[in-house]
Amino acid sequence: MILPLLQGLKLTLKYFFRKKITLQYPEEKWDVAPRWRGRHVLTRHASGKIKCVACMLCATVCPAECIKIVGAAEPDNRKYPEEYTLDLGRCIFCGYCVEVCPREAIEMSTAYELSEYSREDLILNKEALMELPQPRYVSQKKAG
Ligand code: SF4
Ligand code: SF4
Repeated sequence: MILPLLQGLKLTLKYFFRKKITLQYPEEKWDVAPRWRGRHVLTRHASGKIKCVACMLCATVCPAECIKIVGAAEPDNRKYPEEYTLDLGRCIFCGYCVEVCPREAIEMSTAYELSEYSREDLILNKEALMELPQPRYVSQKKAG
């Protein structure tokens, strides 16, 4: 009877003084790999203009059919996406859209906090995709 108890205590003591491996999420965040396939970002030129030229390659190659683009043209005939929506609820994070883009106009960030309360909130429009996602649940202690 006492033997299992002692074995348990031995195991507890073995790990008690070791470096803790538990991460105190959400106050602490994971350091993900640099090539992590997180939430997408539509990139811009230094001038601030969107790089995307609405060529539709990403929408065509996407196996989950989660990208929808409505193209338009500027007076100088430069094409741009008037609307660009990406449904994260359907996305399988394969990265094909990034691979196929000839303009490096879409990237996958390291943001991994993607949960929402409704499916509709997982559909990102162009404006949302042009912003870098911010880390969520920043600790008030750390923020203050
Ligand atoms: S990562 Fe894959 S599934 Fe997601 S939008 Fe890009 S191509 Fe589609
Ligand atoms: S993100 Fe890239 S592949 Fe997709 S429409 Fe824009 S330029 Fe084309």
